[in-house]
Amino acid sequence: MADILTQLLSLATAGSMLVSGALMTAAPHNDESGLLFLQNRQWRVSRYYAPVTIKADVPGQLQDMRADAAAALEEMFAACREETGVTLKAVSGYRSYQRQSTIYQNKLDKVGTRERADQYVARPGASEHQLGLAMDVGQKSDDVNLTSSFGRTKGGKWVAENCWRFGFILRYQEGWEDVTGYEYEPWHVRYVGKENAQRIHEANMPLETYLLLLREETLMWILTGEEMSE
Ligand SMILES: [Zn+2]
Repeated sequence: MADILTQLLSLATAGSMLVSGALMTAAPHNDESGLLFLQNRQWRVSRYYAPVTIKADVPGQLQDMRADAAAALEEMFAACREETGVTLKAVSGYRSYQRQSTIYQNKLDKVGTRERADQYVARPGASEHQLGLAMDVGQKSDDVNLTSSFGRTKGGKWVAENCWRFGFILRYQEGWEDVTGYEYEPWHVRYVGKENAQRIHEANMPLETYLLLLREETLMWILTGEEMSE
């Protein structure tokens, strides 16, 4: 399956439309509470969207996530500890539109221009944290949290290689900046459910590109063998 996907992706990228046009053309799913809802700098969520969240039972702070994501996070942290001995911790989960707005404004006050603030902080409505499906992951006693160095730690490497097993994707990877609109963030995982996470992991593509393929129904057709409906 991965081979077919790889071929399909290389065919598509050869035409260069898919990746470079992904931000423009990826279909935002209409359902904000859906696991595949696309939220990025271009596709923003309503200021009124606020999911029901619970506090994940993991070390750290700001552990709030939607219940399905919180359960998966607990499972992932336990597996990491068991497999590597590393204790992961929650750094920042659900953030309301208002909270994101405050964070953005604080950064803006500090750096002076929107152009500069945009480099560091998502504008309100543009952060996946508002969905309750994203978590910034760190290590318990570590000063590399929320830096690219986290990706080189034992825990960071494990998260990159294994988060898909629990339904998460590493949303902002190196080389995907033009598609995702965000710099490399080895700490930011997004819950999409196990089935989607496995497919995205095997295809090794950004969520934007995956959604584009889904929209074209090509991926579904390959995975299920069902005829595309006319
Ligand atoms: Zn994040």
